[in-house]
Amino acid sequence: MNLAPYHPSKDDLQGAGDYDAPRGKDNVWLVVRAAVKVQSKENEDWKVIKKLFHVDAHFNEGQMVKEMTLRFDFHCHSTASDGALSPTELVARAAGAGVEYLALTDHDTLAGWPEAHKAAVDLGVQLIPGIEISVQWESRELHIVGLAFDPAHPAIVELVAYQQEARVNRAKKMGERLDKAACMTDAYRKASELSGQVAPGRPWFAQILVAEGKARNDQHAFNRFLKPGQSAFVKTPWLTVEQAVSALTEAGGVAVLAHPTRYGLTRKKLRTVLKDFTAAGGRGLESLTVGLNPNQKMLVEECLRDFDMLASGGSDFHTPRQTWLELGKVPPLSEMHTPVWQAFPTAYQPVATS
Ligand SMILES: [Zn+2]
Repeated sequence: MNLAPYHPSKDDLQGAGDYDAPRGKDNVWLVVRAAVKVQSKENEDWKVIKKLFHVDAHFNEGQMVKEMTLRFDFHCHSTASDGALSPTELVARAAGAGVEYLALTDHDTLAGWPEAHKAAVDLGVQLIPGIEISVQWESRELHIVGLAFDPAHPAIVELVAYQQEARVNRAKKMGERLDKAACMTDAYRKASELSGQVAPGRPWFAQILVAEGKARNDQHAFNRFLKPGQSAFVKTPWLTVEQAVSALTEAGGVAVLAHPTRYGLTRKKLRTVLKDFTAAGGRGLESLTVGLNPNQKMLVEECLRDFDMLASGGSDFHTPRQTWLELGKVPPLSEMHTPVWQAFPTAYQPVATS
């Protein structure tokens, strides 16, 4: 896709209703967005444009055109954590879906980075370092997506080592508990073998439970054994918000609060989280995700504005079995948002807009 700034001619700006498709679909978007710039938001034409082209964002300047047409995804998982696709398969699928700018954000690990990086170079996808870190806030577990940090920075290496150790201990304990509670033998070893990981997460244990007939399906396994309050749930001593954010920041990256509407927090609680998160140096909010209801959308917009945060987004893709998700399927940025990549180091700025 040609991402050069579009300079509309006089003719282009006569009235949005007059536009047809002389330049192909992608360019029509640019024309339409350019046209909006010279018209008031109350203009009837704007409503027509919105309807015809599903434009969900206002347009500002040439720079903004490029940013808004950039196809990005800053939240997805590979087999290096709990995803179904290998890093290579994941990057290939992203490329196939038209993603130009990608972060692989496996849980508490960078194990998939070298392979994903190679695939991204081969396939012409711009890959930036990413990770999803589990943290503890009060008695809850929250997730922080780290983006565009130096993966070899000692603060990151230390962070990953700590989280991995916590995960290994948790997996071993979970296995012991399942051996008792579900009358299994060697649940840890089996989950470990199945996943190829020393720290298999709960989805792997769920699979074992189903395979051995201890649960009807994954959801049943979670409800019966694995979710908080059940016999095999093990609370993990994750890093605090402050520790995770400061490691990411020290390594030159940006900390983003992942899926803010998925923790079951009230508006008030979420605002308290964000107060602490931003005080610690967290700057991004994962506001661009599909599936938010109108109230959740409003809440996220309010938080972006009130806490002066950068908009990030991603699919949280784990497996092709989640047919409602796809890599790169992220709502568009609007001019009210500042994209998270504006805070990235130059080397990780989007190639298409630099
Ligand atoms: Zn995730």
